Amino acid sequence: MTFQPPNDPARADVLAARPTLWTNSLYRDNAIGDASLPLNPDQVDESQANWIRLAPLLETCFPELEATAGAIRSNLIELEGLRDALGYGGAEFGRVFVKADSALPVAGSIKARGGVYEVFVFAEALARREGLLKDGQDIRDLAGAAAKALFSRHTIAVGSTGNLGLSVGVAARALGFKATVHMSSDAKAWKVERLRRLGVEVVQHEADYTTAVENARIIAESDPSIYFVDDEQSRQLFLGYSVAALELAEQLNALRIVVDAEHPLFLYLPCGIGGAPGGVTYGAKKVFGDVVHCFFVEPVQSPCALVHMMSGSDDLVSVYDVGLSNRTEADGMAVARMSAFVARVMRNMLAGVFTVDDISLFRWLLLAHETQGLRLEPSATAGFAGPEFVVKHPQGRAFCERLNIADHLSQATHIVWTTGGSFVPQEQFEAFLEIARKL
Ligand SMILES: *Cc1c(COP(=O)(O)O)cnc(C)c1O
Repeated sequence: MTFQPPNDPARADVLAARPTLWTNSLYRDNAIGDASLPLNPDQVDESQANWIRLAPLLETCFPELEATAGAIRSNLIELEGLRDALGYGGAEFGRVFVKADSALPVAGSIKARGGVYEVFVFAEALARREGLLKDGQDIRDLAGAAAKALFSRHTIAVGSTGNLGLSVGVAARALGFKATVHMSSDAKAWKVERLRRLGVEVVQHEADYTTAVENARIIAESDPSIYFVDDEQSRQLFLGYSVAALELAEQLNALRIVVDAEHPLFLYLPCGIGGAPGGVTYGAKKVFGDVVHCFFVEPVQSPCALVHMMSGSDDLVSVYDVGLSNRTEADGMAVARMSAFVARVMRNMLAGVFTVDDISLFRWLLLAHETQGLRLEPSATAGFAGPEFVVKHPQGRAFCERLNIADHLSQATHIVWTTGGSFVPQEQFEAFLEIARKL
């Protein structure tokens, strides 16, 4: 151990890799209004406008988006059978929903919101710069031969544990770009195969995610024909994710679910590098204000956001620095060091982080499948621990007391963000179920 975390009620559990909840002592109201942040909330609306403008092109490229006129959306599903199975039958748990990004079209994971967005925004900007798209021109022309000829002279590169590579690869190839995905050693074989079938060049690194991204960045910097989707620093990715909060608000509204000081909203967001959960948190703070409380969730051996944010350090602290291994079956969350950019934005905005062990991920994967037919990958199930931590854990109860919401919990809404799974091949999914049944 090269870094000694400060005294905190969660510290001993974190260091011993026991599931726990850390709550953020720097959490405060209206953190999103901090003018020193590298983003402003209007950018969430601008990003939504971009999505809407790009929708006809997305629909042309991906016929599965016909039903939603080019929008990439997921369902909000209330827990029924799964509620009791998870032990959330009591009134003190309010209402519990799944936000099923696990079934997002195009990429089968939350990365459809970030990766697809960044690639399509880049394509549009490139086409404008090269005179191929004029004001008022039909955006669908970017799926035509002239645009393809332009795009085919450019490469989109990305470093990934799997799902971001999948989403960027799918989007890039659909527009005719070349694509290179640098994979970490934990990337699952089926993700590699699927990309290669799409004509994506996959470079497999015998190293962790951070190293794969670093290699990809260095290669991209030396070649102006490569556009690098930077998972550690990209504002575009982050903003693509943020728009999910507007979609959630619309869905809650349609269900007549009130969100206010007496009806708090909790979001549970699986975290790898932090971009996806950070972006959703940022959007949620813009849309719902101080009455939404966002928690990241991480594997006990890979709690990079937890250890860094708990450290209070300006320099990034990694899970290796506190003696953890970064070994987990949850490949989407096998990240040792969080994004510095996301850490800055989350400093006063994130309510807390909780951790889960791999065994629980497989149990929940099986339960979610058996009770409500959900198809999840291990990473995507991590948020199911959320209501228990917030409502029952000593740190969760202290948090609710501190925020004066302890008396309103039976009127609360909990959203478990399930982040991936629908693209998992049947054989692999059955192997997951088999592991879970043997536990
Ligand atoms: C990418 C991913 C995450 C985490 O997103 P980050 O942006 O890396 O924090 C969580 N779950 C799944 C399934 C993912 O693919």
